[in-house]
Amino acid sequence: MKKVAIFGSTGSIGKSTLEVIRNNADTYQVYALAAFKSVALMAQQCIEFNPEYALLVDVNAAKELSALLENTPNCQTQVLHGTAQLNSLAQADYDILVAAIVGAAGLQSTIAAAQAQKTILLANKESLVMSGQIFIDEVKKHGAKLLPVDSEHNAIFQSLPSEYQQDYLNKNIEDFGVKSIILTGSGGPFLHESLANLAAKTPQQAVAHPNWSMGQKISVDSATMMNKGLELIEACWLFGVQPEFIEVLIHPQSVIHSMVRYLDGSVLAQLGAPDMKTPIANCLSFPERIVSGSEHYDFITGGSFDFKAPEKERYPNLYLAKQAFKLGQESTTVLSAANEIHVEAFLNGQIKFTEIAQFNQQILERYQPSRVFDIESILQIDKQARQLAQQQLNGRS
Ligand code: NAD
Ligand code: MG
Repeated sequence: MKKVAIFGSTGSIGKSTLEVIRNNADTYQVYALAAFKSVALMAQQCIEFNPEYALLVDVNAAKELSALLENTPNCQTQVLHGTAQLNSLAQADYDILVAAIVGAAGLQSTIAAAQAQKTILLANKESLVMSGQIFIDEVKKHGAKLLPVDSEHNAIFQSLPSEYQQDYLNKNIEDFGVKSIILTGSGGPFLHESLANLAAKTPQQAVAHPNWSMGQKISVDSATMMNKGLELIEACWLFGVQPEFIEVLIHPQSVIHSMVRYLDGSVLAQLGAPDMKTPIANCLSFPERIVSGSEHYDFITGGSFDFKAPEKERYPNLYLAKQAFKLGQESTTVLSAANEIHVEAFLNGQIKFTEIAQFNQQILERYQPSRVFDIESILQIDKQARQLAQQQLNGRS
């Protein structure tokens, strides 16, 4: 039995992970679940999976959960709370961490898991974007394992030779005949919208992703293509390449999850229904294969595949991400932090859809962060960038 900890268990990735585990109950055991404050869903998950630990960051929510579970026979789960306990839990006695907290809040616990030599299934792309080389170095230094859950990175990983997959963080992708990485994205719900209408798009329209069902933040990021920008940076760190090595391609059907172009003209791809259970199952069982519970893609009824280049005017956030990567680690930390604030402000009806990218750009230009040396300085820059973004927002109202 492999013991699995799921951080962000009440979210979209967390729930999909539990579904995969439900389908493979003889191989995986849920050791710990953690989330922010969703008491009812966490209680339900505890009752079904009976983990050793359940953690809610919010202390009052944790108290409520504790009270609920006390009255539940057969559930021996111990309830914890707070980020300090979350970081300790990351180093407890289990095998695999599914890092599925959304945003910067996932960074410290993921690093803690790396330091405890865990196998980390990384969904939380923001943590890698904001800390880059430091994150990768921690994984390598402590001999932890890192596997990409993000569907594109998982597709790229699957399209690379097994000699590369083993210990890939210490290998050079170009030694394996790779010419480029083709990162695909759906283009989001506004792919065909006239540019003039974008400013008036509502949160409800922005989170209505055509193919994937995901959390709110990543859904908005998909509509602006900031998600692809974050993924481009994520791919640079995972596969040790520069942005020029990556071609970003719009593929509205989201069936080809990404591709690898080789020197001899071959292009290898990973395809399947747009369902995160597939990459989650792939990472859980790597290098073997298990049933994920995802539907098998039907090529006859599935329709045709289209491709398009991402337009700069429609997706300025994608280009900001490339620019930030070129500027350096500090800038990607700033951009990711500012974007979290602006997505939240858009979801709250404070700013327009098109202002997310405009304000991201302003913060990137205005903030001159000090150099990054360690996780502490990353967290400091993250905090300052958020404050600056918040001040700028407050200044307009
Ligand atoms: P979600 O919003 O559905 O769930 C987020 C989870 O994080 C919840 O369990 C929530 O309780 C927890 N959380 C939020 N703030 C927290 C905090 N401060 N401390 C502790 N826990 C906190 O998000 P999601 O769509 O599942 O995405 C999770 C991560 O996976 C994101 O980084 C996202 O970019 C990445 N990802 C998601 C998908 C997808 O299909 N949903 C695909 C690829 C990558
Ligand atoms: Mg993705």
